[in-house]
This record gives sequence, structure tokens and C-alpha cells, in this order.
Amino acid sequence: MSRVETYMSQNQYDDLQEEIAARDKLINNVVDMLDELRLPHSTCDDCWYSCPKSEDGCCNDDVGTECNCGADEHNSIIDKLINQAREVVK
Ligand SMILES: [Zn+2]
Repeated sequence: MSRVETYMSQNQYDDLQEEIAARDKLINNVVDMLDELRLPHSTCDDCWYSCPKSEDGCCNDDVGTECNCGADEHNSIIDKLINQAREVVK
């Protein structure tokens, strides 16, 4: 089994810690901004056209219970991005 050991100076170590802290801060900011991009389900004055998953639901029972406004799809992409970003920060 081969093993490689590398050493760094205290200054290099401190710089590295600083870079990691800056990266984590950036990623946390990105996560916060992504969080703000979440979309609510669409609600129309004529509830016939509202998304079934909207707060007041849809008056047309024939459309089922699934999201039809695109919010779920949009928000699931945001969830994936946030999960990936959090993997890096841990
Ligand atoms: Zn929807």
C-alpha cells in the first residue's frame, strides 16, 4: 500500500481554512437565495383554473389532485440544487 504525506505551513493551513469558510458562506448564501425562488401554486380569481395544490384548491374536480401549474416541478429542481449545495458544506 502506498501512502503520500504532504505537509503545509501554518500560513497555508490558515489560508485554506479561510478559503473553506468563504466557500461555505457563499454556498449558504446561494442556498438562501434558492430558497426564495420557490414558487407557490397558482391561484386564479376563477378557481376553476387554480392549481389543485393551491391553498384553496381547484373548483374543477376533474383535474385531479396533482400540481398542474409547474410549481412542483420548479420547486423540485430547487430542492435538488439545495441538497447538492448542502452536500458540499456539511
Ligand atoms: Zn401547482
